[in-house]
Amino acid sequence: MSFESLGLSAPILKAVAESGYDTPSPIQAEAIPAVMRRRDVMAAAQTGTGKTAAFTLPLLEQLSSEKPAPAKQCKVLILTPTRELAAQIKDNIAHYSKYLSVRTAVVFGGVKINPQITTLGRGCEILVATPGRLLDLHQQGAVKFDALQTLVLDEADRMLDMGFIHDIRRIVRVLPERRQTLMFSATFSAEIRKLAKTLVQDPIEVSV
Ligand code: AMP
Repeated sequence: MSFESLGLSAPILKAVAESGYDTPSPIQAEAIPAVMRRRDVMAAAQTGTGKTAAFTLPLLEQLSSEKPAPAKQCKVLILTPTRELAAQIKDNIAHYSKYLSVRTAVVFGGVKINPQITTLGRGCEILVATPGRLLDLHQQGAVKFDALQTLVLDEADRMLDMGFIHDIRRIVRVLPERRQTLMFSATFSAEIRKLAKTLVQDPIEVSV
């Protein structure tokens, strides 16, 4: 198995090679084809398995051949439980997309909101966000989701543990119903499965 055989194109393969990765990790080998086929995915994967690249690389592949998002819009929304994780995902995406013209923005609480409003105003292809700040920004009209294609919930179990369930439900209510949804979680507890039922459709389940 190689990254080439997964159907990723040259600019992404170059960035991946520069990261020093030789072969896709198991989660990448399973999830990348499913995401590229626009399927919903439920993946049980711990941090350290290469899960970030598993959803980032195929989404970048998709976005690289599309028109940019309009002002105030994003096409991919990645929800994470903490600002540290949000910043880390944004850094990873910046690296994997260095040979593409895909814009990634990150928003989280605890910092000034005005610069985030300005950034979102330009539009971005990928938005990485923590739930509370994203809701604030949406209520202020700083971001719209008409162009949204894909929702990613990263570390879904931690988001539930941290009490984000209501925020997540409020966010999902303002997203287009026709979309791709990817859920990544260390474990798939009964509670996570219950949430998944309302979010994903006919998912491919991946477990590593
Ligand atoms: P993650 O599970 O996304 O937090 O990634 C864990 C670490 O594995 C990160 O430091 C990545 O840079 C690295 N990584 C991701 N994919 C691969 C791969 N295919 N081969 C080697 N390392 C990887």
